[in-house]
Amino acid sequence: MADNKTFISFHGAAGEVTGSRHLVETPAGSLLLDCGMFQGHRSDAQQKNRDFKFPPASVDAALLSHAHVDHCGLMPLLYKNGCDAPLYATPATAEITTIMLADSARLQENDAQFFNKIHAAEHLTIEPLYGEEDANRAVDHFRPVEYGAPFSPLAGVEATLLNAGHVLGSAMVQLDLETAGGRRRVVYTGDLGREETLLLETPQPPKNADYLVIESTYGNRLHEPLMDASGKLAEVIKRAWNDGGKIIIPSFALERTQEIILVIDKLRHERAVPEIPVYVDSPMAISLTEIFNKHRGNLCFDAKFRDYARHDGDPFGFDYIHYLRSKDESQALNNKKGPMIIISASGMCEGGRILHHLRNNLDKDTTTVLLVGYQAQGTLGRKLQDGEKKVKIFGMEHDVLARVDTMHSFSSHADKNDLLDFIKRAAPARGVFLVHGDPEARAALQQTLTAAGAKNVRCPAMGERFELN
Ligand SMILES: [Zn+2]
Repeated sequence: MADNKTFISFHGAAGEVTGSRHLVETPAGSLLLDCGMFQGHRSDAQQKNRDFKFPPASVDAALLSHAHVDHCGLMPLLYKNGCDAPLYATPATAEITTIMLADSARLQENDAQFFNKIHAAEHLTIEPLYGEEDANRAVDHFRPVEYGAPFSPLAGVEATLLNAGHVLGSAMVQLDLETAGGRRRVVYTGDLGREETLLLETPQPPKNADYLVIESTYGNRLHEPLMDASGKLAEVIKRAWNDGGKIIIPSFALERTQEIILVIDKLRHERAVPEIPVYVDSPMAISLTEIFNKHRGNLCFDAKFRDYARHDGDPFGFDYIHYLRSKDESQALNNKKGPMIIISASGMCEGGRILHHLRNNLDKDTTTVLLVGYQAQGTLGRKLQDGEKKVKIFGMEHDVLARVDTMHSFSSHADKNDLLDFIKRAAPARGVFLVHGDPEARAALQQTLTAAGAKNVRCPAMGERFELN
């Protein structure tokens, strides 16, 4: 690297939506933005996850935008492989990431054990990327920083974390740094929230940005309005109440679960639905909800929620919501009669307690499976969404007589219009890098932006490096 030059290079989420990691090289050292896990088919993902393309020990400072595994999931491997840099994030992100990484390590250890057992005859084995000890070592490097409080991760670099409105604790990273061409402002959005949200403050475009590194997940799509959510949920609840049925909601433990609880609570306050028992059956969702409670005054929450939480000491609690930690409590639900709502993970029905609830209830026509998040191709959630009448769970075939409904209104990502509006208002003077989007979504956004007169809109390829000047 030439002495006085500054570069940015892209080592993940370049033409795809997982594995976010971007490296900023300055004369004073290297700064890593996120270190996410690639998710996808096993062998392909394993390879990409193990191959860093830069020496982990060369990272002098790491910044984490938020606690989703596709942004933080490889931090343990980074630190296992020689990095010893301070890791900056908001306090809420640090707390949530600690839970997410421990869980990720356990899942990988279980996965590897299971894989190695069933492939023992072929002598095929896989190794987890890291274990719980490595996860602990990584989170020991956290240096929590509040929103809006400038700090200096490297000599000559001033960084500020700004609300990204995506999940609790999520932040955009604003970097003011010296380049060969002068002092420049580079803003990395991480994942960007919607303009219309249930819980979080709408993200505000940064001022005087020179370069914007922005996600493009929904660069070619629009979301259904969030306002539709409560009406649709009320309909489903009333039907289950009349049929005595169970509503099974596969849900991501972070943010989506808390949003659903809040919508139910709001319907309850409005007396729009009967008092249907709600069971939150996910130890991880419970731990995360506790963090939401603890941080309920956090500035990333919108004023409406903060105000509500000031008056209600337990914003995610009410008389007939039950949080189930133990396996026994979870299994006991099988013998309980409906109506009831069961919220459980995983969100795409790929593992976890949700599988047991589906296994026990899919063959009843009084059951409703309510899908509230994106269902990737090939997952059990997607098969149910596509209307398959027989599905396999734990190797056994089950008839699907349950009704499967999808609510498209929930999303924690900005849609096409939100992204365009954000970029237009940020008006970066020197260029835009589009990351974290499938090729079609990213190309469509690039085209729309260029047609609207934006200059230097780039879709960086994996490993591509650009000088910032
Ligand atoms: Zn995210």
